[in-house]
Amino acid sequence: MTDITNVTVLGTGVLGSQIAFQTAYSGFQVTAYDISDEALAKAKERFEGLIDAYRADGVEGASEGKGEQALERIRYSADLADAVKDADLVIEAVPEVLAIKQQTYEKLAAVAPEKTIFASNSSTLALSDLKDFTGRPAKFIGLHFANQVWKFNTGEVMATTDTDPAVFDALLAFAAEIGMVPIPIRKEKPGWLLNSLLVPFLDAAQELAFGGYAEPADIDNVWRIATGAPKGPFQILDIIGLTTPYNISVNGDEHHQQIAAWLKENYIDKGKLGIATGEGFYTYE
Ligand code: NAD
Repeated sequence: MTDITNVTVLGTGVLGSQIAFQTAYSGFQVTAYDISDEALAKAKERFEGLIDAYRADGVEGASEGKGEQALERIRYSADLADAVKDADLVIEAVPEVLAIKQQTYEKLAAVAPEKTIFASNSSTLALSDLKDFTGRPAKFIGLHFANQVWKFNTGEVMATTDTDPAVFDALLAFAAEIGMVPIPIRKEKPGWLLNSLLVPFLDAAQELAFGGYAEPADIDNVWRIATGAPKGPFQILDIIGLTTPYNISVNGDEHHQQIAAWLKENYIDKGKLGIATGEGFYTYE
């Protein structure tokens, strides 16, 4: 058992909404924070969609109303000080943009109670580039989820050289309490374990399509058939949502910026952001 009862999630987009809902589903009191009331209204819709997804995927208790009960444990706030006033743990899932994250931690440091642990879900940014903005490096840690947390339930827990070992242990225990398989990472590794493998793989796939070598569906086909993997890289990109790979490439070298421009022109500007918008590389019902 950890001492964690109240959890605040910053950012209620693709991953933040899943983390907030899964945490509430596991019995915790959750506050969902986002930058505006409009974003929070969208979050509520996402949570309602997750109730259906949990039921459709046969998650334990989902058919007996556990999703609706989870929703009652979630409160909403667009005021940061109010959102974190009782938080034992803040999980940050704001956009994958260094300046946004650094500003978020600076503001958070000024208003969060002393007891509050800060955990970042950043996929590709280094925790070391964030820790000095937290005002509490000993209570700052990484907790990384995979998309569709109720099915793909890894909880990678990563300390920096400043993290208190007791906080590391508490987060491993918390990850298990919300139904994740805790995966300790012993040294700070940008990209964690999963993305150290996945990002170069998705990058290679985008290179092939951007370079005009083959269509996304054919690249997916060869990967699935020849390796037995259930999904190809473009199916995975549609699940992730195209904004995150765009943000990664746009901050890269000149070649990656060309790939970002290709993603923007052909997909993002046309509203094709992946499964969440009904269309990405594929079209969905
Ligand atoms: P997203 O764009 O879907 O959602 C971001 C949310 O943050 C939005 O609701 C937005 O309104 C909100 N936001 C914007 N500025 C903010 C601010 N200053 N303060 C608080 N909220 C703010 O992004 P996402 O895909 O959910 O990714 C969020 C984080 O999770 C990123 O660090 C990403 O690397 C990480 N992550 C994403 C995935 C994935 O598959 N999408 C998987 C693991 C980790």
